[in-house]
Amino acid sequence: MVNYNRCPYAKKCGSCSFQGVPYEQQLATKQKEIKKLLGNYGKVSPIIGMENPYHYRNKVHAVFGRLRNGTIVSGVYEAKTHKIVDIENCQIEDEISSKIIRDIHGLLRSFKIKTYDEDTGYGLLRHVLVRRGFTSGEVMVVLVLGSPILPSKNNFVKALRKLHPEISTVVINVNDKKTSMVLGERNIMVYGKGFIEDTLCGCTFRISPSSFYQINPVQTEVLYGKAMEFAGLSGKERVVDAYSGIGTIGIVAAKQAKEVICVELNPDAVRDARTNAKRNEIKNISFYQKDAGEFLVQMARQGEKVDVVFMDPPRSGSDEAFLSSVVTMAPKKVVYISCNPETQARDLKYLVKRGYEVKKIQGVDMFPWTGHVETVCLLSKKAQ
Ligand code: SAH
Repeated sequence: MVNYNRCPYAKKCGSCSFQGVPYEQQLATKQKEIKKLLGNYGKVSPIIGMENPYHYRNKVHAVFGRLRNGTIVSGVYEAKTHKIVDIENCQIEDEISSKIIRDIHGLLRSFKIKTYDEDTGYGLLRHVLVRRGFTSGEVMVVLVLGSPILPSKNNFVKALRKLHPEISTVVINVNDKKTSMVLGERNIMVYGKGFIEDTLCGCTFRISPSSFYQINPVQTEVLYGKAMEFAGLSGKERVVDAYSGIGTIGIVAAKQAKEVICVELNPDAVRDARTNAKRNEIKNISFYQKDAGEFLVQMARQGEKVDVVFMDPPRSGSDEAFLSSVVTMAPKKVVYISCNPETQARDLKYLVKRGYEVKKIQGVDMFPWTGHVETVCLLSKKAQ
């Protein structure tokens, strides 16, 4: 069993609901929840946990502010408040990224960079976001500022890179609105290319400041590996990847399929997905920026046929437009990835009533110490 230590910030931070619970027990609790919600549909395989469930987050975010006495603090908002908990060390965040944030914290005073005050709108630095490619080693630092000018920015970047030569790009993100959103719309490149790349399942992906990328790359490979195993592609299939984000699943699948059609609502993610396909020299793939339900209704109306549907919807799950079109198009297999087994159970019920059976149910622990549960299920069309 892996050792565990209770995190000193647990109570105030509130992100990790399993603090103080041994890892084996966390997995057992998640397995029980999956069985309770999905067990009616078939046998649930044992959840796949992490060998080392610490420091798995490749994306680290800290909000910056000041105490009344002027001390600079950086960390997270205390649960349900706007008080900042000053965090020096987090059990689940990448250690190099956390260290970079601490060192930015340390540089602020000598560079006379003021932290932003939410109430008055005075000051400059609001948040720092660091993303690290675990395979590539590339690091992106995003400084979220209340206005676009960072005084002595070149010297600041120089000082930071002296401490952390691994930083490959620095971006200023301008967020001048009174909002609880971290990122604003405008990015200004200060150093490097403005994005990093990382490798997942043998493919290379571009990660921009605001694009979605799975935050636990070690377990994402396990999850996608299971999804591919369930799909059992032979090279002849026509495949849909719905809710495709930056195209990760579709691009990995395209290497083993005849054709992949991806659909995703977020235009930025679709743009990244197209770049990623080119970057990996994948040609048998197409991307559509649309609501997945509307898109599938259209495909079904046109009498299109597909062999396998991958679907990976957000927490709210899929919808009837999408699911009823799956039923009409009647793919042999549906591989359903979910970060919320409650909505997945609801959607499985719909498909099981209409000619599908659940063949495999697999949990993958993507978020140790937190209560989040990720599952992948294989459904196949029943013989008529
Ligand atoms: N499969 C990807 C992304 C999964 S996250 C991966 O593994 O990285 C879910 C994705 O669904 C997000 O990218 C979100 O933008 C997208 N999404 C949310 N609602 C949608 C809708 N109605 N139609 C299509 N995509 C949607």
